[in-house]
Amino acid sequence: MLQGKNALITGASRGIGKGIAEIFAKNGCNIAFTYASSVDKAVAFEKELSAMGVKAKGYQSNAADFKASEEMANAVIADFGKIDILVNNAGITRDTLLMRMTEEQWDDVIQTNLKSTFNLTKAFLRHFLGNKAGSIINMTSVVGITGNAGQANYAASKAGMIGFTKSVAKELGSRNIRCNAIAPGFIETEMTHALNEEIRNTWINGIPLKRGGTPEDVANACLFLASDLSTYITGQTINVCGGMVM
Ligand code: NAP
Repeated sequence: MLQGKNALITGASRGIGKGIAEIFAKNGCNIAFTYASSVDKAVAFEKELSAMGVKAKGYQSNAADFKASEEMANAVIADFGKIDILVNNAGITRDTLLMRMTEEQWDDVIQTNLKSTFNLTKAFLRHFLGNKAGSIINMTSVVGITGNAGQANYAASKAGMIGFTKSVAKELGSRNIRCNAIAPGFIETEMTHALNEEIRNTWINGIPLKRGGTPEDVANACLFLASDLSTYITGQTINVCGGMVM
């Protein structure tokens, strides 16, 4: 479905981003991906992807840093020639009740989740305009739609990403650049494994499909938004949450 296309996926050394890179590669897409600090995992993953017969390269780059994102994007374009798909996936949590939330916990989450989306989209914008094509996919969360106690910083960052997605879709639709968001629910990754058993079970009991999602579940929705099957879809948020939010 993505034969001959090139994608840049942020935060793909593990979790959902890794799942997206694998599904894209299986569908013939060349993969540029970023990570923050997992050098060994990234090097091993680069080899794994290359063994699938696609071009693959990992870049250590802090998505929260505007200048670093610009430099990384230039390096990716120099290495790959053209980027067709941008997946803004890198994200973190710093969960705590507002009463205890520090300014640093607020800033870290807003910068890594929301500002990074601006940084990367800006960095590839001229390139997409020049190509008169592009599919941007922003990884938000159902929590950005519903809110969640203990996640005011995270929910605000993810709600911000939805507003950003809709605005970019309106601004760039006439240039054949699409921008959509995916809102995962409870997905089994290191991010959710950090939660204790009781909280995990409470989440899962509230899911109509009665299980946590997999990175592959989310990746399949990304594949659809990245591919030519969705050429008339922009500005949308697709919930991938087992029915948790309707
Ligand atoms: P994860 O397992 O914790 O992986 C996070 C990835 O992001 C890693 O590759 C990490 O790189 C990278 N990263 C973190 N900070 C970064 C930075 N400043 N610059 C560049 N890369 C950075 O998380 P996940 O569960 O896969 O989540 C991926 C996305 O889905 C996030 O945006 C998250 O908010 C969203 N999401 C997740 C769930 C869920 O249930 N898991 C639900 C809804 C939404 P290193 O390995 O180098 O640290």
